Amino acid sequence: MTDFKLIADTEWKKRLSPEEYRVLREAGTEAPFVGEYTDTKAEGVYSCRACGQELFRSTEKFDSHCGWPSFFSPLAGDKVIERSDNSHGMVRTEVICANCESHLGHVFTGEGYDTPTDQRYCINSISLTLEEKPVED
Ligand SMILES: [Zn+2]
Repeated sequence: MTDFKLIADTEWKKRLSPEEYRVLREAGTEAPFVGEYTDTKAEGVYSCRACGQELFRSTEKFDSHCGWPSFFSPLAGDKVIERSDNSHGMVRTEVICANCESHLGHVFTGEGYDTPTDQRYCINSISLTLEEKPVED
């Protein structure tokens, strides 16, 4: 099995498009409202575009109107790692894939969304691949 944490930057550049590399490996952010999954309602599972690990499900996706795909919870708590991000003069919590440590987005808490967790995992579409399939609740 590939240990995705050991893949070198040069290898990631071969595996990913330049834009995927910029977001996933350099913690970039795609522009709001342009990502392919921003308003997607299809039933399915969202995997990490870098390593294929299943991360989020359509059942936890909600309309945040923030311009990026938003989930109120990951598929399982151990699928993602949350760490403090003080870049750009803000204190935020970065969300990375636990399997390959690629950047996914940020998580915000206590914004008042009407969801079970009051958390918003604000994830770049380009960090994800949706596989449309039935999701068990
Ligand atoms: Zn990954």
